[in-house]
Amino acid sequence: MVEAIEDLGRIVREANIRARKSSISRRKTRDPSRPAAKWVASAPIGKTTGTALSLVLSTHGCSHALSDAGGCTMCSYLLDGTSGEVSADNLLSQFDNGMEGLAGEPAPLSVKIYTSGSFLDESEVPLDARNSILDRLGGDERVREVVLESRPEYVTDSALESIAQRLQDRHTEIGMGLESSNDFVRRMCINKGFRTEDFTSAVNRALEHDIGTRAYVLVKPPFMTERAALEDAVQTISDAVDMKVTTVSVNPVNIQRYTLVEHLWRRGEYRPPWLWTLIEVLRRSRKNLPSSVRILCDPVAGGKSRGTHNCGECDLALVEAIRGYSLTQNIERLQVEECDCLPLWKHTLAHEGPSMFVHEDIARGLLGNA
Ligand code: SF4
Ligand SMILES: [Zn+2]
Repeated sequence: MVEAIEDLGRIVREANIRARKSSISRRKTRDPSRPAAKWVASAPIGKTTGTALSLVLSTHGCSHALSDAGGCTMCSYLLDGTSGEVSADNLLSQFDNGMEGLAGEPAPLSVKIYTSGSFLDESEVPLDARNSILDRLGGDERVREVVLESRPEYVTDSALESIAQRLQDRHTEIGMGLESSNDFVRRMCINKGFRTEDFTSAVNRALEHDIGTRAYVLVKPPFMTERAALEDAVQTISDAVDMKVTTVSVNPVNIQRYTLVEHLWRRGEYRPPWLWTLIEVLRRSRKNLPSSVRILCDPVAGGKSRGTHNCGECDLALVEAIRGYSLTQNIERLQVEECDCLPLWKHTLAHEGPSMFVHEDIARGLLGNA
């Protein structure tokens, strides 16, 4: 059985690399002094609502995606990066460019820094640049919350010590893509390249430095039925809270270019999750979790064919309900009118063909060496 699992893992990895190969060679050379993306929006900050800047720095990309592993099955962030050189000075210019979006905004502010990989990976963001960015954030009294995204292997004691010292009393979180708490799902469906225990160790290390963590939970990786994906997401959120993460960010899969997920979608072998599934995941999770844990969700491409969607008629109302809930944490915001597509979703949950993997499960037992 272990051999069969190894074979399956290899097949998924190879298909993943095939799906993205040509995109890497066709990456653009971007202006290294400008971020890949930035946007400003209202966001819950502590017990109030403030303004959040999300900033995607343009780097050479995620080390996991550039490695022989080929990255995660649903992610094309590598395309946000550049094929050219990006110096520490360039990254500082990108940061300053992003912060212009908060000019004149009153406190409280939140700044979320993403890269096309890991902010704490020194091969992606040189230490000098990281420290200078943290110092600038630490010097801005309006900034009350900072979120830095990284894979767990870069969440080291020395990085955490430096973050804590530079950001002082700000609410700081390290955002990490747990995706699923099931090692089998994370390995076979996502090709994530780390184990649950790696994630847990990073959470614990952060806690020792009084730094919070944000778990990104993926809803409906490929090769799972709607029902299996729903149960997996609910279980993962609950497990993440047990691990003591401070925030959970729930992310339904959206179809990104040159990914294995896109390849399956084009062949009619994958559908992004229903919005009903997302609502159900959020409802069930909120009921069972302490109110101190925030559950956030801002579905990318919500209501579109490449994103989480329903029938087209009710999508907008559901996306609005989800965003409203995320902003307020008030579960009543998830109450939406029923639509004619609801029975079809229920039918899908009950009768969709067997999952490639059985959740609960066999898989957890099998995964000694995932
Ligand atoms: S999801 Fe994160 S770890 Fe996976 S390939 Fe994308 S950037 Fe890298
Ligand atoms: Zn509908």
